[in-house]
Amino acid sequence: MKLHHVGVAVRDLNAGISHYQALGMTMAHRETVPAQKVEVAFMGSGPWIELVAGLGPDSPVSKFIDKRGEGQHHVAYAVKSIAVELEKEAKAGRKPIDAAARPGAWGHKVAFLHPKDHSGVLIELVEEGH
Ligand code: ZN
Repeated sequence: MKLHHVGVAVRDLNAGISHYQALGMTMAHRETVPAQKVEVAFMGSGPWIELVAGLGPDSPVSKFIDKRGEGQHHVAYAVKSIAVELEKEAKAGRKPIDAAARPGAWGHKVAFLHPKDHSGVLIELVEEGH
């Protein structure tokens, strides 16, 4: 497992992008992911900072920001096989948020692991599709 990106929840995606550009990072990719009710922008050249903004008030990311404010949201690791990692979670008696890999941003497959099983950190597994 190696670090793939750090997810940062922001209220306003354009403002977030401008902020990171002012820090000297370029935008590598931007995408709306309706299935997850988010719009994301990957900043830098890897490991990336993924800015995540909710699409509407019922987006889980909007609810996260309402409760805890903007800030670090999840940590993502690149893995060879999400299926293998989810099997390891099951064998360890843990119940991942996602039972199987699903389509994520940037053509990747993703699955989320529960923060209560991982020292309070929401973990995203990324199987790169490009
Ligand atoms: Zn992510």
